[in-house]
Amino acid sequence: MTITGAWRRTAQGAGLLGADGTISASIFAEMTALAMRTGAINLGQGFPDEDGPTVVLEAAREAIANGVNQYPPGRGMPVLLEAIARHQQRFYGLTVDPATEVLVTAGATEALSATLLALLEPGDEVVTFEPFYDAYGGLIALAGGVHRTVRLRSPDFQPDLDELAAAVTDRTRIILINNPHNPTGTVFSRETLEQIVALAHKHDALIVTDEVYEHLTFGVAHLPVATLPGARERTVTISSGGKTFSTTGWKIGWLSAPAAIVTAILAVKQFLTYVNGAPFQPAMAVGLDLPDTYYTGIADDLQAKRDLLAGGLTAAGFTLTAPRGSYFIVADAAALGHPDAAEFCRSLPDLAGVVGIPITAFCLPEHKPEYASLVRFAFCKRVDVLEEAASRLARL
Ligand SMILES: *Cc1c(COP(=O)(O)O)cnc(C)c1O
Repeated sequence: MTITGAWRRTAQGAGLLGADGTISASIFAEMTALAMRTGAINLGQGFPDEDGPTVVLEAAREAIANGVNQYPPGRGMPVLLEAIARHQQRFYGLTVDPATEVLVTAGATEALSATLLALLEPGDEVVTFEPFYDAYGGLIALAGGVHRTVRLRSPDFQPDLDELAAAVTDRTRIILINNPHNPTGTVFSRETLEQIVALAHKHDALIVTDEVYEHLTFGVAHLPVATLPGARERTVTISSGGKTFSTTGWKIGWLSAPAAIVTAILAVKQFLTYVNGAPFQPAMAVGLDLPDTYYTGIADDLQAKRDLLAGGLTAAGFTLTAPRGSYFIVADAAALGHPDAAEFCRSLPDLAGVVGIPITAFCLPEHKPEYASLVRFAFCKRVDVLEEAASRLARL
């Protein structure tokens, strides 16, 4: 019996599956296993190694103790929907109706997958920047879409606006952006975002924006694309509590969009997870209502960690541009005499006791050579861990 599914052809075309239909062992799994085997410091995967705010953790424990353990409503618990609406108003001046324009999801990942499944027709094009968050390629393929990319190039990873204009056509159904950007740490300029809105209008495309690092920018304010003139009526804004509250394992995400779009996405979401994380939902609401000092505190804290790791990498001989947001730094190993980052990452535990991820893991197969010498390092780790990593890298 051949075991297959409709998404397999697209996924093979996108290089996500081998010719025999098997998933190629992911570089993330390989590097994590390598870190465990060698005792190297794992700066590969982007999850924090410290707990988030105690009041948020306590609120989840309390919810479990108080019996918040059954299916919550399909759109999410009102306490969280209302907290999301208050958050959009407080930080961005966006007024969203919690009853009709917000949806709670199983992480940003389900928000993305339900959105793409709800809004794409087979063969519709989705434009993203490249390198791209690795899930995008798989999710676009699952939804039967065709992935087109606009390359971001070192050192600053800002897009060429002419290339962006050329990539968006009448075949484009969705422009999918991620701002602040994983893996490059770039924050897109107002000019770039305005161009995206103008192109969406010109070609009647929708904008889907993944803003999970919205509170993790360094010296630059986050600008949600939905706040730009003409954007809101065609934009789905996605975020998650995982990165903001250091609770990546809770998988509580959300989206906001015009009511008709939310309804279309809800129709898909009810057949994916239906609902998730009942006791975590009121806890996320507590987090979203934390005072401004919490939010400025996490950004300042992470900026200091960025500087610590950037200093270590620079001293070791890497070339890099300090990221302006996210958990990640991209460093070029070419200056150290290592033109092949995949090979370099496999030997880095021996060379320096540290693990990173080659940027090619975030690229289409045909574009990997352009990014061959770049490595992504995560700095969402304890200060003592980053200090140790910096001193180990100095051996290079
Ligand atoms: C971590 C991450 C996600 C996934 O968020 P979850 O809430 O864990 O599903 C989505 N997009 C980007 C860019 C991320 O870095």
